[in-house]
Amino acid sequence: MFSVALWQLQGCIMKIKITFPDGSKKEYEKGTTPLQIAEGISKGLANEIILAKLNDEEIDLNRKIEKSGSILFYKFKDDEGKQVYWHSTSHIMAQAVKRLYPDAKVAIGPSIENGFYYDFDKKTPFSDKDLEKIENEMQKIIDKNFYFERREIPKSEALEIFQNLGENYKVELINELPENEKITIYVQGDFVDFCKGPHLPETNKVKAFKLLKVSGAYWRGDEKNKMLQRIYGISFPSEKELKKYLNKLQEAEKRDHRKLGKELDLFGFYEEVGPGLVHWHPKGGIIRNVIEDFWKKEHYKVGYEIVYTPHIGKSNLWETSGHLSFYSENMYAPMKIDEQNYYIKPMNCPFHIMIYKSDLRSYRELPIKYAELGTVYRYERSGVLHGLMRVRGFTQDDAHIICTPSQLEKEVVKLLDFSIFLLKSFGFENFEIFLSTRPDKFVGKKEEWNKATLSLKNALEISKLPYKIDSGEGVFYGPKIDIKIKDSLDRSWQCTTIQFDFNLPERFDMKYIGEDNKEHRPFMIHRALLGSLERFFGILIEHYAGDFPLWLAPIQIKIIPISENHFEYGNKILKKLRNENIRAELNIQNEKIGYKIREAENKKIPYMIIIGDKEIENKTISIRKHQKGDLGTFQLNEFIEKLKKEVEQKK
Ligand SMILES: [Zn+2]
Ligand SMILES: [Zn+2]
Repeated sequence: MFSVALWQLQGCIMKIKITFPDGSKKEYEKGTTPLQIAEGISKGLANEIILAKLNDEEIDLNRKIEKSGSILFYKFKDDEGKQVYWHSTSHIMAQAVKRLYPDAKVAIGPSIENGFYYDFDKKTPFSDKDLEKIENEMQKIIDKNFYFERREIPKSEALEIFQNLGENYKVELINELPENEKITIYVQGDFVDFCKGPHLPETNKVKAFKLLKVSGAYWRGDEKNKMLQRIYGISFPSEKELKKYLNKLQEAEKRDHRKLGKELDLFGFYEEVGPGLVHWHPKGGIIRNVIEDFWKKEHYKVGYEIVYTPHIGKSNLWETSGHLSFYSENMYAPMKIDEQNYYIKPMNCPFHIMIYKSDLRSYRELPIKYAELGTVYRYERSGVLHGLMRVRGFTQDDAHIICTPSQLEKEVVKLLDFSIFLLKSFGFENFEIFLSTRPDKFVGKKEEWNKATLSLKNALEISKLPYKIDSGEGVFYGPKIDIKIKDSLDRSWQCTTIQFDFNLPERFDMKYIGEDNKEHRPFMIHRALLGSLERFFGILIEHYAGDFPLWLAPIQIKIIPISENHFEYGNKILKKLRNENIRAELNIQNEKIGYKIREAENKKIPYMIIIGDKEIENKTISIRKHQKGDLGTFQLNEFIEKLKKEVEQKK
């Protein structure tokens, strides 16, 4: 009896119980690896997976499992899978660099949104030829099929290893860890790296890769540190996927808004003025004006009131709002006016609150919605400035909704609907929505947070919009909903943000008189739907590759007379079109017709009106459509109707 029980007990200790995502459970020998578990399910699965998650820990597929728990496998299609795949490729790249250039020191090599990089400290810069050599070496490493071998060692041992290797950046990082912490290192063949992991099980899991570019990067992103060389790359489980990605990259380059902005003369930045400060040239200005008109008209329709507020405000305003304590690193130095410090605004909120507080408000007036295309200025490091996407002065399509607690949910439903409508009007069809909940540091009471978060959640449910929860990613002053759009290259851009605020109503002591005749604290929502006009314009340029739909195109029609004899008729048409609010230009150059058509094509003008003897005689016009060619002859009035319809439909 006794010996049987002991045997059973031992059997039990040697076993682990693994729970699968569908709830099923299975027993395995202790020390079984995730890869072995997957192989037991199917060869296909084992082939496809990149890493496993045991309970809350992401682990290598070759890690021996010592305890029971629930398991999850990630494939390349999962974000977690991509990150590990790309990061592992960065190790392969570092190994190749060390083999070719033993003097180069390795710094860090994380995965990024698309691909990976590794930073190196090397005396001479990497050339394109070097990248080619590194790629060849990487292929050798992949073909050798090294294991990514995980080892846990004491800190002292890790320091010794990397000191002996002369890897001072790794030594610096290891030194920052607590004394008794176990250090994980990964060894693949002749290369060792200090890294938490996880990684791919072996190097030949990487089937296709490409090194993309080299750029300078300061150690730890700090300008006071040494400038290192950062090599970027990307990898995929198949050649086909790599090719597709590289094509997309090429297409993105062609669409780069900085390049198109110059070609189409839409905007500019000037050294004499300062970096990150946008100048909207006339053609960009027209588009902005169209966007603003549409934006205002639609906001009026759904009950917003448009306001305009100052660009600067006294320091005590920013003290009350908390900006000077929480946000000062993004604000510019104050200017002195009449012995008072004034700050240029990084946000519009305090001004809208002033307007709200200019009168005693009753619950009957709520919700109050103040909207403003408000230009704000925020400090960004010069290194992160990027065309229109990241600037130092920009115009938020801002609004603040001040409502009673019971109105919150309904207002958020309306907002979601309105935001999707606006974004769709600009040609975006695919959205990703995120609800961000309470972070570790927050103001307000927990139960209020829960209520507000629930309201946002309910609003998303009512709107039947699929969303993901970004746990703990809310702002310190309240939960928020973000909407990202997908552009024509399937890239994501964050546009809409709807942020609940517990902080400012309190700080500014905002009130309204409730039904009970008593004072209450209103709720407040900050929201920007397009984000900023500058950034949104950049996104639009890239989304349409500069080929704006008729309603947005800066010049909608180019009138092209075949010769000088037709200028007069052309002028008549120009007047008529402009009277009808159609943006037209007349080409009076003394050039061949083919040249003039090509020029209009290059400027991506949606329609051309061609006129010659025949058209004058018949009182007609001939139409060419951009990229499509000849559409035949029209009566002018008939064509104007067609244009108006197209503008109306925002096609
Ligand atoms: Zn690593
Ligand atoms: Zn605000």
